[in-house]
Amino acid sequence: MATYKYQVLRVNLTRRATAVETVPEEICELFIGGRGFGIAYLYKEQAPHTDPLGEENRLMFLAGPLAGAQAQSVSRWMACTKSPLTGGYARSVAGADFGAWLRFAGYDAIMVEGKAADPVYLHLTKEGCKFIEAGDLWGKETTVTQEMILQRHGEKTRVACIGPGGERLVRYAAIVSGRRTASRCGVGAVMGSKNLKAIAITANRKVRVFDQDAFKNLSTEQTRLFRSSQQFKHHKEWGTTATQNVTNSLGIFPVQNFRYGQQKNGEKLYGEEYRKLRTGEFGCYNCSARCGKAHTVPSGPYAGAYSEGPEYESLWVFSAPIDSTSIEATIRADQLCDDLGIDTISTGGCIGFAYELYEHGIINRNDTDGLELVYGDHQTMVKLVQKIAAREGFGNILAEGVVRAARTIGRGAEAYAIHTKGMELPAYEPRGAKSQGFNYATSNIGGSHCYGYAGQEIFGATEPRPVNRFAEAENADIVIHNQDSTGMGEVGIVCSFARGWGWFPGLYGKLLAAATGVKHSADIGYLKKVGERIVNLERAFNVREGFGRQNDKLPPRMLNEPLHTYGAPGEGEVVREMEQFLDRYYELRGWTKDGVPTAKKLAELGLSKMAKDMSQH
Ligand code: SF4
Repeated sequence: MATYKYQVLRVNLTRRATAVETVPEEICELFIGGRGFGIAYLYKEQAPHTDPLGEENRLMFLAGPLAGAQAQSVSRWMACTKSPLTGGYARSVAGADFGAWLRFAGYDAIMVEGKAADPVYLHLTKEGCKFIEAGDLWGKETTVTQEMILQRHGEKTRVACIGPGGERLVRYAAIVSGRRTASRCGVGAVMGSKNLKAIAITANRKVRVFDQDAFKNLSTEQTRLFRSSQQFKHHKEWGTTATQNVTNSLGIFPVQNFRYGQQKNGEKLYGEEYRKLRTGEFGCYNCSARCGKAHTVPSGPYAGAYSEGPEYESLWVFSAPIDSTSIEATIRADQLCDDLGIDTISTGGCIGFAYELYEHGIINRNDTDGLELVYGDHQTMVKLVQKIAAREGFGNILAEGVVRAARTIGRGAEAYAIHTKGMELPAYEPRGAKSQGFNYATSNIGGSHCYGYAGQEIFGATEPRPVNRFAEAENADIVIHNQDSTGMGEVGIVCSFARGWGWFPGLYGKLLAAATGVKHSADIGYLKKVGERIVNLERAFNVREGFGRQNDKLPPRMLNEPLHTYGAPGEGEVVREMEQFLDRYYELRGWTKDGVPTAKKLAELGLSKMAKDMSQH
């Protein structure tokens, strides 16, 4: 029985009403917190086939039960909703301070329902929640929005907000806090559809945990383990700005819309080059890694461009897909995405898709507002970022994501839409990192590297066992392990980078138990089951929406076109065993051949009551 009482702030924008409720004990037992609560509430409360951009769609902001306390790297937060990009379940994780501040205000989650008649923002304090008119903020970039709100409510305030991209319902719009983003799945568009510009929280830095002494000792031990970890030291030094050094040499750095796995002259994009433009470091609440690296362009056409990034995914997506090696253009595009509030991966994925269509003559200047989309031309790429966020001309088509854009364009464009479940793929080539690719295919949120990152294939992780990255169906267990472990970590909500630094999952479980008083959180077997439960309920949500085996697919290019790597490993690789992989994956998961969790599996996970409607789907 939970001894810590989780508080959910329920906000109805239509009625401008709020209520605070305690999370039922059954949900605490089954899901612990964070991402678990997200799917539990959404599954229970949201009617199937709700319009993601309609008033009925629910949007949750969640912090984990460790957020704001002494432990490190555990104050991340996430948004959960139904995605306007995929039509399925959405969870999008972000950093900075907002998760800690949510807990400082006395809440573990906010459930947003309804739609405001006019733009508003919410102001949360320990005393309650106010609705404040946001007409003057509407149209403002995320940086300006946050500055204006801080001027009103003071330095003890943190803000999560949308930019023009979210207001204009770009289907992959982000929610931005500081300069960290909950960027995937279009969670910012859902916020925009509700006329909700921002949530501001003003609070003092104080949070209570169940067993303060135990928690303090465990946090000290965690810090010690971090500091002795080589991965921690490397991550502190480089963040993700040198990941491309690894992926490019492995032949899994996708170039020209996933036609190639290695970039010629790729060393021009390597971490050492980014380091020359590094002008600062920053981190999330209470994380001594401070892995965020800020960059400033000193001269040239992008002089003055400043980004608190780009992270690996962003530094990839504004270079390799258009075959550019301009770091400066990438920094500018990354800055624009943060300011305008759109996801870098989907934005760059849509632009890379358009460049390939242009090369094949499927689109021309008549389609692109007169722009020539020629590989290497980064200035056009930067213009397209702006046009997408503004939904201007050709940008309005790309703002819908590659699947809808391909349908609008026609003429065979579908063959070049690189996505799973409608979400554009991130920066790891599935033909050269196959467990990573199969994770994209089976992820319940679409093409996400974070849903079940295959560190075994990319960084040689050996848990739960070493992996041959070209093996396929035989690695189904690895994909499941990675997805369930992520679910387990995101009840925390632990930073995925920090999971490799010697404290996860043993110490993590003990911290959860000390924070909440739920003793069996310290049991790894129990924690693993929670991770599996989360993935199963997210799958059940999607099944209810009509998803099944037909949606667990990689793009045809991965199955039919041999990968080119310029001599790196993986030359000529294709994905050969897509169907065999799915058979094995479903079998190990205890799902039907159509990818539906069975009644037996749901009962085993304690979900029979919650997912009792599954038999109808
Ligand atoms: S490792 Fe980096 S991303 Fe993760 S919590 Fe720390 S600062 Fe944030």
